[in-house]
Formats: sequence, C-alpha cells, structure tokens
Amino acid sequence: SGLLKSVKFKSKDNSKYNLIIICTGSNSHLVKTLFNDQSFEYSYGEVSITTAVKHSFIKNNVARQIFLNNEILALLPISNTKTSIVWSVKKDIMNKYKNKNNLFLKKRIKFYTKYFLKKVKFVTGIEYKNLNLLIRKKYYQDRVLLFGDALHVVHPLAGQGFNMVLRDLASLERILKNKINLGLDIGGSEILSEVSNETQPRNFIYSLGIDFLKNCFSFQQKSLKDFRNKIITTLNKNNFVKDILFNLADKGFKF
Ligand SMILES: Cc1cc2nc3c(=O)[nH]c(=O)nc-3n(C[C@H](O)[C@H](O)[C@H](O)COP(=O)(O)OP(=O)(O)OC[C@H]3O[C@@H](n4cnc5c(N)ncnc54)[C@H](O)[C@@H]3O)c2cc1C
Repeated sequence: SGLLKSVKFKSKDNSKYNLIIICTGSNSHLVKTLFNDQSFEYSYGEVSITTAVKHSFIKNNVARQIFLNNEILALLPISNTKTSIVWSVKKDIMNKYKNKNNLFLKKRIKFYTKYFLKKVKFVTGIEYKNLNLLIRKKYYQDRVLLFGDALHVVHPLAGQGFNMVLRDLASLERILKNKINLGLDIGGSEILSEVSNETQPRNFIYSLGIDFLKNCFSFQQKSLKDFRNKIITTLNKNNFVKDILFNLADKGFKF
C-alpha cells in the first residue's frame, strides 16, 4: 500500500536477522530508495483492463487470447463457470474509452467474448494498470533480497509474470534449504549471489523473449503481420515445436 516508505536497519548483527526479502511489487518506493532504481524499464504505452466474470457452465480448461487490432483480450479460466479477463489496450484508445463509462467497457468485453462465454455477469469491478517492461540490474545488497515483480515485470500477453516468480521461489527455497542444512548464514553475499546467478540470466532472457513476442504482435505493417501469421500457422502445425514452446511456458529456461 506504500505505507512503508523506508527501512533502516538498527544493526547488521545477524543474530537479529539473517535475510530480509522485499516483495513489494514493481512500483515500490521502498525498492527505489534502497536500490537507487537501478533497473531497465520502459512503458508499452498500454493499459491492462482486468475483471472476472461468471457465465454459463462450460468445460473451461483452455486459456484463450483474442488478438484484435492493437488490443489483446485474454480469457483465463478460474472454474467451469468463472473466467478472468485481461484486456490490454493502447493508452490513446484507452483515453477514448475513459470518456465513456464502465458499462461501455463491459459491453465491449461481452461482445468480444460472446463466442466462448454465454450469460456473462461481472463479479468484480474493473481494474486498470499501466503495462511496463522492468528488468532489475541488482537482485540483492546488504542482506536484502528483492523478489517477485520487484525484480522483473513482463507484458501479460504470455501470462508468465507470476510463473517467473514461482520459478525464482523454487530456486530460492532449494538454495536456502541446502545452506540451512549446512548451518551457513543465509543472508551472506555468497548465498545471495548464488540465488542471483541462478535466476537473473534466465529471467533476463525470458523477459526479452516475452518482449520480442509482444513486439511481434504490435506490427502495424501488413507485410510483417502476414509474415508473422504465416510463421504462427506453420508452428501451430508442428507438434515438436509446440511441445518445446509449451515446455518453455511451463518450466522456463534451464541452463
Ligand atoms: C494485467 C495483468 C495480468 C497478469 N496475468 C498473469 C498471468 O496470467 N499469469 C502470470 O503468471 N502472471 C500474470 N501477471 C503477473 C502477476 O500478476 C505478477 O507477476 C505478480 O502479481 C507479482 O507478485 P508480487 O507479489 O511480486 O507483486 P504484487 O502482486 O505487485 O504484490 C506486491 C504487494 O506489496 C504491497 N506493497 C507495496 N509497497 C509496500 C510497502 N511499502 N509496504 C507494504 N506493502 C507494500 C502491494 O500493495 C502489493 O499488495 C499479470 C500481471 C498483470 C498486470
């Protein structure tokens, strides 16, 4: 909520604490203050519109993306009668939408999803978020480890942001367990550097990969769009490539 503006450590005596993990998200004043905002960041010039809807019973086990002109609308199953909607829209288009009310946006969502969802009812309000790419250069310092979106933020088109966080968590858990078993100091720079060395390179490549994908879906030129669509159609027919891509989305990179 931004209530905590800064943290001062009374003592660096590690009998008081070994490790502090900061997971206050991407827009945290705390992180910016402590880490001097050492990051690579740029705005996609887009806003995400998110909400959840109830609908008639369907076998809801497939996530879908509807690629519109300059907009992507994702349907992410929650249950057979509930779906989460993530719709990314260019800021200039969003400004036009903003002059209208939420009812207008709800009507658009119903219109776009009508082939998949019937009898749609909105069960949460509509939320907005600016969409950015963020890659933090430094993962830790002085017994403080950054975590989650504080480290990396990607475009939601691939639905991979939290998956990256979970992979980091698996690495962190394994490394810390191992060090605790050996009786080592878990906040020491050697251990934090091990966590960082394992997670940072793969997060870097993964973030750039998603950014590349996002840029491919932002092509405006017809020839580029046609070329992209041809590649997607070809890849879609190739089960070997599809398996590789599913595996990448599921498990990430392994070096
Ligand atoms: C539109 C959209 C759709 C997405 N869809 C997907 C998806 O389908 N799949 C997927 O894997 N990922 C998705 N993501 C990414 C996912 O939401 C994030 O990666 C994930 O929420 C990151 O979790 P986090 O805990 O690091 O940060 P956050 O979720 O941002 O949580 C940080 C928390 O810290 C709190 N906080 C901040 N400052 C302070 C402070 N000083 N003191 C106390 N508390 C503080 C904040 O209020 C917040 O509650 C999506 C993201 C967006 C924007």
